[in-house]
Amino acid sequence: MRILTMKFGIHMSQKGGFSRNVKRAAQIGCRSLQIFAGNPTSWRSPRLNPEELQRRSAVLQENGIYPLIIHAPYLVNLSAAKEEFYHKSGQLLRETMERAAYLDAPFVVLHVGSHRGMGFEEGLELFISTLKTESSHWPEKVQLLLENTAGGGNSLGGSFASIGHILKSLKGIFPLGICFDTAHAWAAGYDFSSAEGFKSLMDNLHRHIGPENVKALHVNDTGTPCGSHRDRHAHLGDGLIGEEGLSAFLRFPWPDDLPAILETPETGTDWDVFNLNRLRLYAGENCEASPLSQGD
Ligand SMILES: [Zn+2]
Ligand SMILES: [Zn+2]
Repeated sequence: MRILTMKFGIHMSQKGGFSRNVKRAAQIGCRSLQIFAGNPTSWRSPRLNPEELQRRSAVLQENGIYPLIIHAPYLVNLSAAKEEFYHKSGQLLRETMERAAYLDAPFVVLHVGSHRGMGFEEGLELFISTLKTESSHWPEKVQLLLENTAGGGNSLGGSFASIGHILKSLKGIFPLGICFDTAHAWAAGYDFSSAEGFKSLMDNLHRHIGPENVKALHVNDTGTPCGSHRDRHAHLGDGLIGEEGLSAFLRFPWPDDLPAILETPETGTDWDVFNLNRLRLYAGENCEASPLSQGD
């Protein structure tokens, strides 16, 4: 049997202190982590303090956490029609990439943008040309990962075909990868709650994206119907994707050492332990699921 080498982790809150939170995460078995580098819903970045960021990088190393993934602020939209937001987006992404470099985080995750009324194709082309221009300003050691979105409305990143088009257009220009979110794929219309559904999901993924381009996973269950384009993460196994779909997904032979991050509803250590145990169980590791029941 193939030994799975996924690096399980959580999206870590900044509340309560960085070092303390990293230690706690390592204690409950995390080997990778995701954080926001600042306030995810603010245009203002925290003051850049390289020494402090390097200290944080050392704390991660001491606790055996690698890779650290930085999630870009939600406001960044590289296909924003309004000039003000378009420029602010480029600037904020540059600052996020710079922070990631000081933290020795190899990946920054960005949601594929939203065209805000200019039309799907035009929006997608603007997104691609902006990435092309912006990439020359990023530190070389940090790789951008595009996250698939729930799609719908003006969103450009729901279909694997649109993501595949971005990858193809930028091939050879700068290294670009994918962060695959299970709950978003479900909301975008990919039903993989059954073995058959999973096969179709992977056929699509092979055709448009290629599993070798997937550099990180967001493993979430979901409370909203497939194709609803709504995003409400649920604890693993308690949502509509469920055990069968998530197990099939996690047991796929992904690249070695792939970080698999939980972005399940944030309710503290007990729930993190519960979800990490489910993650191991579904991935086929020999581990008992936590006896914690819902609502504790
Ligand atoms: Zn995200
Ligand atoms: Zn996600």
